[in-house]
Amino acid sequence: MKTFGLKKGMLLASVPFFLSLDAAAGPNFDQASKNARAILGSLVAADTTNPPGNEARAVEVGVKRLKELSIPFEVTDFAPKRQNLVARLQGSQQKKPVLILAHLDVVGTTGQKWHSDPHQMIESDGFLKGRGVFDDLGMAAVGIEVLALLKEQNVPLKRDLILAWTGDEESGGAGIQYLLQNHRKSIEAEFALNEGGGLHLKNSSDKLDRVTLQNSEKTYNDFEVVARGIPGHSSVPLKKNAIYRLSEALARLNQYQFPLVMSPTLRRYLKLSADLEDKEMAAAMKAAAKAPGNPPPDVLKVLESKPYTAALLRTTCVATLISGGTRENVLPSEARANINCRILPEQSVQEVQQILRKVLTGGKEGSGVEVSAAAPLQSSPASPLEGPLVPAVEKVLKEMGAGAVPIVPTMSLGATDGRYMRLAGIPTYGLNPIATSKDDHETVHGPDERIPIASVRRGVEFLYRLILELNR
Ligand SMILES: [Zn+2]
Repeated sequence: MKTFGLKKGMLLASVPFFLSLDAAAGPNFDQASKNARAILGSLVAADTTNPPGNEARAVEVGVKRLKELSIPFEVTDFAPKRQNLVARLQGSQQKKPVLILAHLDVVGTTGQKWHSDPHQMIESDGFLKGRGVFDDLGMAAVGIEVLALLKEQNVPLKRDLILAWTGDEESGGAGIQYLLQNHRKSIEAEFALNEGGGLHLKNSSDKLDRVTLQNSEKTYNDFEVVARGIPGHSSVPLKKNAIYRLSEALARLNQYQFPLVMSPTLRRYLKLSADLEDKEMAAAMKAAAKAPGNPPPDVLKVLESKPYTAALLRTTCVATLISGGTRENVLPSEARANINCRILPEQSVQEVQQILRKVLTGGKEGSGVEVSAAAPLQSSPASPLEGPLVPAVEKVLKEMGAGAVPIVPTMSLGATDGRYMRLAGIPTYGLNPIATSKDDHETVHGPDERIPIASVRRGVEFLYRLILELNR
């Protein structure tokens, strides 16, 4: 671990004389968004493709900026050349801190057809393009410039505002796990704002049509199934064959459906995003949201006709890898499969394991099939929808003239650093301040990743106002 702090005399030396005049003039969002774009360009150029990550290169960009701003920070090494950066703007501590979380690593571009160098940010057709501009370097850049603006404006805060730039989100979350295990105090907060949800634009327009607030994620867990049989010469087949046992077990899993869970998040999601779907789906979503218990079968059938909607309703477990046998002419003694489960926050991982065991063994002792967790089991609870965040977001949207935009709680099917945060007891909400459309979303992890240029300025203003609102 390396620690950098405020050096003596640094504060005095770097505070410009005109600060008070500037404060009277109010925050300069245009300048702040220019700064955010410059930081974003440098973060893209740092090329933090994971693996290997090299997040230290991106941390350097943040360190330089924080030193200019005289904002204290801490750099932690979680692996060679891999670092997290945590900065803190001190408040009066009448209320608990708020944390802005963003990850620095990006996914690779191998085999993708980009129209420009992915690690040189460009402006074209009203977009900023480059690997990571959306996921998640944009939020990192906006976050640091909001800290800068609050500092410049000398805004009195009731809460400390923490900014954490983490590494390794894209492959396991080693960065956030390191912070939670070794520097928990530095990121302790009433709640955190993270990627995974946020301001959403109607396609090819600058109109907000909703704000998604990701308050839960399905939990990722792998299980291994091993079927055993009696080995021998394949010229004399035996009933107890490992490959047949495994295939029968997997066929049972394919037929099985985990129980339907109508959680509060799901109900609100179905109700508030119904109007964005086609007529039949919209009607089904509204009916399901209103149904006192589980939706009627005809409604369920429509919901389940779309794989994405279907995956929101239940825990899912699916076979993803298979291996078995040793030779063409030898009866296999063993066959294995990996079962990848995505578990609803309302269901315990232990319960899923029990169900899985029952389904795969057919409920029979001596089935020759064993099920075990591939890694220590973990689950991640949903973050509460009550509290100061939702009213604050509503108020800021109104102030910014966005009109009545629904705030839709969502559960992600994938996973972000948020799962470790929630597991550690820090409520976490996906709320990216940079407004993007469905088309922009489709560039994430793909070629020509992009965000609308205009969304940077709006994002800085939104997050700045939101922080002010949370400090009233
Ligand atoms: Zn991400």
